[in-house]
Amino acid sequence: MSEKQSTVNLDAAAAGDGQSYAQRYTEAMIPVFGTPQRVLVRGEGVHVWDDHGTQYLDLLGGIAVNTLGHGHPAILSALAKQAEDLVHVSNFFATAPQIELAETLLRLARAPEGSGVFFANSGTEANEAAFKIARRHGGADRPRILALTDSFHGRTMGALALTSKEAYRVPFEPLPGGVEFLPANDEDALAAALAPGDVAAVFAEPIQGEAGVRPLDPTYLQALRLLTREHGTLLILDEVQSGIARSGHWFAHQATDGVVPDVMTLAKGLGGGFPIGALIAFGPEVRALLSAGQHGTTFGGNPLGAAVALAVLGTITEDGLLDHVREVGDRFAESVSALADPRITEVRGAGLLRGIGLSEPIAPQVAAASLEAGFIVNAPNPSTIRIAPPLIITAEELGTFTAALPGLLDTVLANATEGA
Ligand SMILES: *Cc1c(COP(=O)(O)O)cnc(C)c1O
Repeated sequence: MSEKQSTVNLDAAAAGDGQSYAQRYTEAMIPVFGTPQRVLVRGEGVHVWDDHGTQYLDLLGGIAVNTLGHGHPAILSALAKQAEDLVHVSNFFATAPQIELAETLLRLARAPEGSGVFFANSGTEANEAAFKIARRHGGADRPRILALTDSFHGRTMGALALTSKEAYRVPFEPLPGGVEFLPANDEDALAAALAPGDVAAVFAEPIQGEAGVRPLDPTYLQALRLLTREHGTLLILDEVQSGIARSGHWFAHQATDGVVPDVMTLAKGLGGGFPIGALIAFGPEVRALLSAGQHGTTFGGNPLGAAVALAVLGTITEDGLLDHVREVGDRFAESVSALADPRITEVRGAGLLRGIGLSEPIAPQVAAASLEAGFIVNAPNPSTIRIAPPLIITAEELGTFTAALPGLLDTVLANATEGA
């Protein structure tokens, strides 16, 4: 346990009317997330603590968000310093952090002269802006938009229209039209779909996170770039989860030669926990697809969020985290493979975005058993355990989970046999 004390005594607060936090959550919240398994009160580095004082190794990082872990001094000082100067000003005004962040992102994205940035507050909003850009490209001559099977682009209506999972989409139809889903990694299907020349854009995640951490084949990603360019279609890469050094590259697509998107969307790791999203339009033609008055946001690009994001990007650079992520990520994947456990089929992904494939659909139970054992992971689908920890995590810390994994699988399978 660390010495750091929480400012709020949640146990005392919970005792107030004799109700548990679980009960109060269930009564006060709209139940879209189900019942959370723990109430967390504080964090430090790669650890968090619940309201009973139990410590957890955070291997999920708020779903690829807590880039620098919890309570990182660079984030704390950026928050404090910027809050003293300006928290928010509206987009009638510019601020230095916003301009610097845009310039930094353009540089890291290796965007050509004439490119531009739009700031939002979340991944889904960044994708809404991308959807608008797609609609503006080609107008009535290009009514079609392509997305991939197993895609996840967010929960607002436009981003949802691009998300393949029917359970998410169908209850909210009609959604914005014109979207078709293509099987991922199928070049022939892609070529056929683009051939008529009436497709405005293709949306793709270089690593499909919610699908269970499934990277696109590099050859498919290259074909996506070549074929979209050939047909005048925009390539829109959603790097909301895979971006910001998560893969060991600033952006996951940079691992594949010759792939530069027309649009890239970002969020999750960008603010290290502060909500901020961004869209980068590559080159002057794409940038010009949104003109003054065609899009907007009240909070997007506020100086507080921009200052924190600059601190995140600066720390990744100064601390050499790109190399670190590649090194510890590869070591983790190798060590899990080296377990040679027949219940583990593969380790997918790159850097510190990894999916551990299981031979049986027991991932939710394994995630629950992991939590009991002091590890936060999740199950994006029934047969995958995902880890997306803070990028500052060490190989030794990751090794504690690798070592525990066979025992966790034993526990879950023993319970399943007992229950049968
Ligand atoms: C999480 C995610 C989104 C949605 O981001 P929100 O901030 O939850 O709106 C979009 N695309 C991808 C690839 C994501 O992983």
